[in-house]
Amino acid sequence: MLRICLKKRIYTYSSIRDRINQERAERLKNLPTTTQEKIRNFGIIAHIDAGKTTTTERMLFYAGAIPFPGEVHDGTTTMDFMPQERQRGITIRSAAISFNWANHQYNLIDTPGHIDFTAEVERSLRVLDGAIAIFDGVSGVQTQSETVWLQANKFNIPKIAFVNKMDRQGASLEYTIQSMKDRLNIKPFIMQIPVGEIDYFNSVIDLLSFQEIIWLDKYGSEVQFRDIDKSHPYYNKAIKARDDLLSIVSEYDETIAELYLEDSKELLNQQLLLQSIKQIINTNYNQCCPIYFGSALKNRGVQPILDAVHQLLPGPSERPLIFDINNPNNKRKLDKSEKLTAYVYKVLQDQDLGLLGFTRIYSGEMIQKQNYFNSTKDELIKIGNLYRVRANRYVPINSVQAGDIIAIQSKYAVAGSTIIGSNDDKFVLQQLQLPQCVFFANLEYESAKDKLKLDQALQQLQLEDESLKITVADETLITIGGQGELHLEIVVQRLKEDFGLNTKLKKLQVEYKESISEEGVLEIKYQDLLKGRPLWFKLKLKLQPSEQQENEVIFDFDRENDFDILYKQFKETQLRQVATQKNETSVKYIKNPCKNIEVETIIDDHGEEKAYHISSLQFPMFYHLEKSILASLNRGFLKSYQMQGIKATLLDGAFSVKRTTDLAIGRAVQKLMSEIHPLLKPIILEPIMDLEISCPNSLQQKIINDLISHRRGKIIEIKQDQNRAGSKNSNRVIITATIPSQETIGYSTAIRSISQGEAFFSMIFKKYEYVGGQKQNELISEVF
Ligand code: GDP
Ligand code: MG
Repeated sequence: MLRICLKKRIYTYSSIRDRINQERAERLKNLPTTTQEKIRNFGIIAHIDAGKTTTTERMLFYAGAIPFPGEVHDGTTTMDFMPQERQRGITIRSAAISFNWANHQYNLIDTPGHIDFTAEVERSLRVLDGAIAIFDGVSGVQTQSETVWLQANKFNIPKIAFVNKMDRQGASLEYTIQSMKDRLNIKPFIMQIPVGEIDYFNSVIDLLSFQEIIWLDKYGSEVQFRDIDKSHPYYNKAIKARDDLLSIVSEYDETIAELYLEDSKELLNQQLLLQSIKQIINTNYNQCCPIYFGSALKNRGVQPILDAVHQLLPGPSERPLIFDINNPNNKRKLDKSEKLTAYVYKVLQDQDLGLLGFTRIYSGEMIQKQNYFNSTKDELIKIGNLYRVRANRYVPINSVQAGDIIAIQSKYAVAGSTIIGSNDDKFVLQQLQLPQCVFFANLEYESAKDKLKLDQALQQLQLEDESLKITVADETLITIGGQGELHLEIVVQRLKEDFGLNTKLKKLQVEYKESISEEGVLEIKYQDLLKGRPLWFKLKLKLQPSEQQENEVIFDFDRENDFDILYKQFKETQLRQVATQKNETSVKYIKNPCKNIEVETIIDDHGEEKAYHISSLQFPMFYHLEKSILASLNRGFLKSYQMQGIKATLLDGAFSVKRTTDLAIGRAVQKLMSEIHPLLKPIILEPIMDLEISCPNSLQQKIINDLISHRRGKIIEIKQDQNRAGSKNSNRVIITATIPSQETIGYSTAIRSISQGEAFFSMIFKKYEYVGGQKQNELISEVF
C-alpha cells in the first residue's frame, strides 16, 4: 500500500459514535449564527445516472451528517427519501440538506436529472450561488448535462465539475475534457489528474499542492497526502498538467501571468492560486470551470470537491445584489439590518408539520411566528416555525439571516413568491418561467365518491409542482398534463401511495395547439332588436399569424387609423385599473377622450338613426370588446385546442350609441369569428422534441430507418464518436434528430428492443410546429 510519505491525515472519522456526537453538537449550536462568508448554497446538477445522489450521500457521510452512506440501488439514500424515488432509484424531487464542512455551513440541493423534472431543477437553481456539475467519466457530456449546464448559465451560476465513475472500464480524462470543450464550450481548469484505472483507481494528484491524495479504506474516510517526486510514475504527466493549468490561469489573471513568466516560487502558494481561480470562475461562470475526478460509488475523490465548494464557489455576499423587477434600480444589500426579502422556491406538504415553504433569505432577517407580506400576491403571510432542513428531517430555529436557505412553516406559502417585511415598497423578485406542458392523459378513477378526494389530492400535488396541469372538463373527466410519461406516471403512483387513490392514465397524448397560417380581414354588422327597437354593432378586425407572440394571442388597435392616442390611454387606464383594483370598491374609469364622432347615418324601419365611431366607445365597453376577442380566440377553430401565435387588430367599427350593450359586443365578436376563419387557414400544431441517440455504428441505419419511416423524425446530424477511440465504446455514432413528441411515447422500450440495450437517448422539448396536412386531417376526423 502507498504509505511511503505519510504526512498528515486530515479527513478521518474514526468511529461512528464520534460522527453522531458531532452532529448532535452541531445541531445544538443553533446554526443561524453562521456568518454569510461561511455559508455556501450550492446544487448538484447532472444528466440522470451521472451519480448526483451517490455523490451527495458521500458528502453527508464525510461531513458526519449520516452514519453510513446510503446506496441508490439499495433504496437507502438520505436524499431520495420519497418511496417512489427509492423504488425507482431516481431523484424526482430536489431535496435540501444543511451540514457543516471545514468550518462552513453548506446548504446543498440535490436535483433530479430526468428531463421530465426540468422545472424542479430550475426552481432550485433560482436560489443557488453555485453548483457542482457531475459528469460520467465514460459518457462525458450528455444531452441532459448540456441542458442543466445551460440552465445554470441562465442563472449566472459558477460551477465546479466532478468527473465521476472513474472506476469504470473506458473512463477517460481526455474524452470527458474534450466533450466539455466541444459541447459546453468551456476552458477546463484541470485541478487534478486521476491515478490508476478501474479497480486500481485509488488516488488523484492535486496539481496545486502537487501531492497525491490516496484513499486508504473502503469508505474512503482515511486519506493520505504524499508529495510527488521524480520517482512517481505520473511525475512527468503531473508536471505537464500543472504547467497547462498555470498557463490557462495566466490567460485570465495578470499577476499570475507575471509570476508564471518569472517561474516564481510564489506559485507554490496554494491560497494565491485558489483565490485567483475563484475570481476567474466567478466572473467567467459560463466559460471557465475547475475540474475534479473521482468515483463516488467507490468512495474516492469526494472530499476534495467538498473543499472546493468553500474554496472556489462564491458565498452569498459575493453574488450580485437582488433588485425589484418593477424597479430594477431598487436594490437590496445582503445585510441583517436591511429590510427583509425572501423567496419561496418550492413548497411541500409534510405530514406532521403541514405546508412548508423552502425559502432563500436575500436580505434582512426572518424571525419565527411573525406576520410578513407576500409581495408577489399582495397578501399577508403568517409564518409559524422556521426550520433548518436535513432532507426529510426539520430542526427548529428561532431566526434566520440573509444568505441562508431554510424552510418556513406556513399554510400561506406559495412557490415562486417574494416575502418582504412590510408592504410599504412592493419589492418583488423575478419569478420562474415554467416549462411548456406537452403531454396529457385522462385520469380514470374507481368510483364517483373518490372524486372529491381526488380533486383535493391533485390540488395538493399541484401546489408542490406548478408544472403539473390539471383540467376538469366536466363533472367526471379529469385531465392531467405534464412534462412527459414519467412525470405523469409518478403522479398516478403518488395518488395511490400517498393518498390511497387508485387511478389509471388513459391513453397518453401530447398537447396539440392551434394557430392560423394566413392573414384575414373582415367587417361584419351585428343587428338585433332590443325592447323592440333596432340595435347594431359594426366591427372590422384583422387577424394575422404572429411569430413574435409565439405563445399567445394579443389584441391591438390599428395604429395607423388615428387609434394611436386612444390605444395609449386605453392601456394606461387598464394598468391603473389593475393597480388600484384591490383597494377600491368601485373602479372609476377615465372617460374616453375622443368625442362622440358621428360616422354615418343609417335609415332603418323606424326612421333615422345616428351612429358613432368605435373610438368613442366607453372604456369599460372597450375592455369588454378586448376580452370578448381574446376569449373567442382562446380555443381553436378546428379542434378547440389552445390557440397561440395570433395577433388581432381592431381596424374600424361603429355602433348605435345609446343602446350598445355587453351582449351586443359579445355577439358581434362571435359573428365575426364564425365568418372569418375560412380566410385564416387554421392549422394544428404539435410539440417537437430534440432527440440525441448514441449507438454502435452497426445499428445506425436501423435506428435512422425507424425514426424516419415510423416516427416522422428528421435527422439533423450524424457524427462519429471519435473521441472515444481506444475506449470500449469506440465505433459509436451520435445521431441528432427532431421528432414529434407524440412519437416519443413508448420510445424507450422500442429503442431498447431495436438495439438490445446498446443504444441510449435523451431528449428535450424544442418548439411547437405545424403537424402537416395528412396528420391534421387525421386529427380532425378523430372523435376524441
Ligand atoms: P443520479 O441519477 O445522478 O442521482 O445518479 P445516482 O447517484 O442515482 O447513480 C446512478 C447509478 O450509477 C447508480 O446505480 C450508482 O450506484 C451508479 N454510480 C454512481 N457513482 C458511481 C461511480 O463512481 N462508479 C460506478 N461504477 N457507478 C456509480
Ligand atoms: Mg439522483
